[in-house]
Amino acid sequence: MQAAYDLVVIGGAIAGASTAFLLKRQTPSLRVLVIEKSEQFDRKVGESTSEVGACFLTRVLNLSNHLGHEQITKSGLRMWFYQHSHDSYTRCAEIGPKHQTRLPAFQLDRSKLDEVVLQKALNVGCELWRPAKVLDLELGGEGNNRIEVKLNDETHTVSARWVIDATGRNAVVARKLKLFRPLDTHPINAIWARFRKTTDLDGPEIWETAPGFAEPCWAMRQWATNHLMGYGWWGWLIPLKGGDCSVGLVYDQRLFELPPGPNLGERLKSHLMTHPLGKKALCDAECIEKDVHARSNLAYYSTQTMGDGWALVGDAAGFLDPLYSQGFDFISYTCYTAFEILRDRFVGKDISQERDQYNRLYQEQFHTWFESIYKDKYYYLGDAELMTVAFYLDIGAYFIGPVGQAYSNHPHRYSALPYAGPIGGLFGKVMRCYNARLAAIAKRRIAAGTYGVHNLDSRLFLPGFIPGPASFRFLLTGLRKWLEVECKARFSRPRSDSLPSIGQATPLAPS
Ligand SMILES: Cc1cc2nc3c(=O)[nH]c(=O)nc-3n(C[C@H](O)[C@H](O)[C@H](O)COP(=O)(O)OP(=O)(O)OC[C@H]3O[C@@H](n4cnc5c(N)ncnc54)[C@H](O)[C@@H]3O)c2cc1C
Repeated sequence: MQAAYDLVVIGGAIAGASTAFLLKRQTPSLRVLVIEKSEQFDRKVGESTSEVGACFLTRVLNLSNHLGHEQITKSGLRMWFYQHSHDSYTRCAEIGPKHQTRLPAFQLDRSKLDEVVLQKALNVGCELWRPAKVLDLELGGEGNNRIEVKLNDETHTVSARWVIDATGRNAVVARKLKLFRPLDTHPINAIWARFRKTTDLDGPEIWETAPGFAEPCWAMRQWATNHLMGYGWWGWLIPLKGGDCSVGLVYDQRLFELPPGPNLGERLKSHLMTHPLGKKALCDAECIEKDVHARSNLAYYSTQTMGDGWALVGDAAGFLDPLYSQGFDFISYTCYTAFEILRDRFVGKDISQERDQYNRLYQEQFHTWFESIYKDKYYYLGDAELMTVAFYLDIGAYFIGPVGQAYSNHPHRYSALPYAGPIGGLFGKVMRCYNARLAAIAKRRIAAGTYGVHNLDSRLFLPGFIPGPASFRFLLTGLRKWLEVECKARFSRPRSDSLPSIGQATPLAPS
């Protein structure tokens, strides 16, 4: 016999489990089935939250207890720049908070978090099939969806009034409906692994050998998301509860090529050790076997997010770039909006207008977010002065817009999409402009041989960002600094023979 459900959620990780939980808690009479492929979650990737993602975890999913006991509170985002591999790590230019940050954010072991959220969904009455895999999907419109599932060794067919696709990058619905598009203008790849025995950046050895480096920073650097910045690439160091460290590299294929090596883990480690702070952090580190992963063409999107009887949440709807740890932001927007629209639908409302508006705004948000923050950013990632401008402006705008909205727009914190609509669009236009200019100035600096000249001996310690007027001050500082680099750019002369040496293992000519 064919089992019938109001809602079938394919993929039971953070996005799928959150959406199932929210809907079932709201309407207990719904029959909700979650289908999850894995027997248990691995550590995945995506371990550092932003403030928007953390707001979703603490104020929508109410996970503060789990986050406090089982995960690590994040001590902000820190960026480190360098000129040459032989420079001392103590000379690397640094951007980051002076003190602990003001709003919550976390370093997550995803294997624990995703299980906890899935358990929440089961506790409110959702049904789980696991390990179970969707073999076939017929999307016939609301009330007419059919799913063929392999559970253990048996094949079952279920019918679903609504299907939620939360399969991450597998994006089974978007691919089936031919809505899946790679974002070709952002050709980035990633490699990541978990390591043991990384150096404690606040440890006794650093305090004894480099007190002048340790003393000025009052926050704990070790618990931050530390980013190693290079030309065309950046690396991350994210501490996990229990002592392991997540280490990864993201690079733009147009600008950077990973040097060869005996295996992927070694290649990752040896490249990151070309950065002096990477060398300090990873010199004694050991890569955990069988936990090394690589993914190419990270950025993609679906041209539609919700249709007749189906919706996409989390990475199934699209993914941009992990630089500012905004994966959970998109999870929050897509899960919460799907929840609000389906909640209305399940009480009989006509949702066609809401759905069309969401589809339109989501596309606006995705593309504006990309063009205003990430497009061609890898050209200037390795230049501390240009990234300082971007840091003030990107983070200032983020706190005025998305963070402010998430904290103050209860209960619709996530359904008003930022960087969409008239105000979001206006911000987006200004941001697109400075982002494009910084990329252009970076290319000019490369030609002039002045790329990264401020990458040593500077520390930019910022007070914690908060939403509201304080963030406008950051925006103003960012605008002033943008003007300064524009003035400098006017007087730099191109030199045809120079290529950047900053953070490049293989010099590729900038295109
Ligand atoms: C290199 C990199 C770094 C990142 N860093 C960050 C970061 O620091 N911070 C951040 O917020 N985000 C980050 N992200 C993004 C983050 O990883 C994702 O946004 C997040 O994992 C998406 O969660 P999800 O639940 O949508 O999908 P996933 O976590 O991919 O889960 C999908 C689930 O669906 C299941 N599934 C798949 N196919 C099927 C099927 N056919 N049938 C049944 N089940 C299925 C899978 O088993 C899995 O459990 C990063 C991403 C990358 C690529």
